[in-house]
Amino acid sequence: MRLRPHHLLCLFAYRGQGYNRAFIQRMDALQQAYLEGEAATIETAFDDVCAACPYNGGDRCANPEGAPPERIDRAIAGALGLAEGAAITATEVRARLAALAPEAKDALCEGCSWKEAGSCKEKWG
Ligand code: SF4
Repeated sequence: MRLRPHHLLCLFAYRGQGYNRAFIQRMDALQQAYLEGEAATIETAFDDVCAACPYNGGDRCANPEGAPPERIDRAIAGALGLAEGAAITATEVRARLAALAPEAKDALCEGCSWKEAGSCKEKWG
């Protein structure tokens, strides 16, 4: 699977909510594979989640809510040392998150519109 940096974290916290039925079905399948150990290839633009998203504008994300996803991706990629094209598993993502200072963890996903939906940080541990 191909995942952009912020989706590596979203898949830990995702709890069946999404933009429409097709998106939720895609998230369900990707979450299951990711949590069962399938490696993700890091993508810096549209990925396998975006491919099922109604806000996929082709060359840009058209979601009007929250911070631009590219900004969140850059922050997470920098903090976790994620390089485009590299393969990474959920276990390795968790290990890199665990190595961050609490304030660095707090700064991840700044401006994400889904943050209020629930327990992102609790699910990363
Ligand atoms: S809202 Fe934007 S970044 Fe998020 S899945 Fe949809 S197209 Fe991708």
